Amino acid sequence: MEPHHGLAARLRAIATEAGLAGFGICAADPFPEVREEIERRVAEGSHGGLGFTYAGPDAATDVGSSFPWAVSLVVGAAAYLPPAGSPGPPMPGTGRIARFATEDHYRPLREALSRVAAALAGAGFRAEVLVDDGRLVDRAAAVRAGVGWWGRSTMVLAPGAGPWLLLGSVVTDARLPTGRPMVRDCGTCTACVPACPTGALDVPGRLDARRCLSAIAQSPGVIPAEFRAAMGDRVYGCDDCLEACPPGRRLLEAAAVERGRVDLVEILAADDRTLLRRFSHFYVPRRRARYLRRNALVALGNAGGPAAVPVAAGFAGHPDPLLRAHAVWALGALGGPAALAALAAAAARERDPLAAAEAAAALEAAPGPGSNGSR
Ligand code: SF4
Ligand code: SF4
Repeated sequence: MEPHHGLAARLRAIATEAGLAGFGICAADPFPEVREEIERRVAEGSHGGLGFTYAGPDAATDVGSSFPWAVSLVVGAAAYLPPAGSPGPPMPGTGRIARFATEDHYRPLREALSRVAAALAGAGFRAEVLVDDGRLVDRAAAVRAGVGWWGRSTMVLAPGAGPWLLLGSVVTDARLPTGRPMVRDCGTCTACVPACPTGALDVPGRLDARRCLSAIAQSPGVIPAEFRAAMGDRVYGCDDCLEACPPGRRLLEAAAVERGRVDLVEILAADDRTLLRRFSHFYVPRRRARYLRRNALVALGNAGGPAAVPVAAGFAGHPDPLLRAHAVWALGALGGPAALAALAAAAARERDPLAAAEAAAALEAAPGPGSNGSR
């Protein structure tokens, strides 16, 4: 059957009118090379325990397993700069949210792709929108459809938007004319590799999620001690490798409006409901507010501020041992007589093995009497 050229042109016009920065179409065939890479990373552990496409590589790399009628993928890309703004310089008592999460920037992408899906349905075809969905490796679809190219940062880069893109697709049974992968790559640039504060990109083109601050902030459990200082004031996400990327510089300069800075004390004072509602667009493990507080405690330990010591000291007595463990680390990082006194008191009363070990390690690393490490 001949592909529907007229329909494809109409879909592109709809996507452009809806504000999408990138549009392409590809066959809904499996992505065996991506599946191999996912399996390799799971085997070596460099996926860092992330779920999502790693949890179901069979489905993620073969959209036909979820949608047996799938013939084509209509891929859209939404550029989220400059509206996402920039967090501005570090400020005591505040934390930073990565640009992709300053608000639900996926919403306009979902809306645009829903319009594309509605046009397909109106023409008599099946259509399902897949945005931030574990049933499709969206970056691989974008590369196959010619929307962008794989960067060494593992992000998909597109002309005019660089890496500041969110990707989604409409899976459909319509046979549409397909695009071609871009004949473009990063060339001699390697800027993102040294820009990563934790060496997570030391093998260019491969992300070691165990070292990636963005992945760590979205993972359950303890934030590994070796990465807590590197977390800096980040509460969610990390933009360092994207900021270093030359194809996105022009947009970054236009994104000067200050956004994405949050009051850490306010976050730590909020109840579960308020927190989960305020950050409903974040991926929070098992939707448990404790992980937002955990991140905020590490950011507080690094950012300091007038209320940092009393707030961290309060959390050193929290019922949740995970939060006590991060609070005593924060007290050690903050330093100064008041923080160290609170840390010593917490260590003396702590009975939970995890929190006790953290308190002991923080005390051992703390400066001796006479020094003043207060931030
Ligand atoms: S998001 Fe941050 S930590 Fe992760 S690879 Fe990029 S620069 Fe490194
Ligand atoms: S910083 Fe350079 S190497 Fe890294 S993704 Fe961007 S263009 Fe590619």
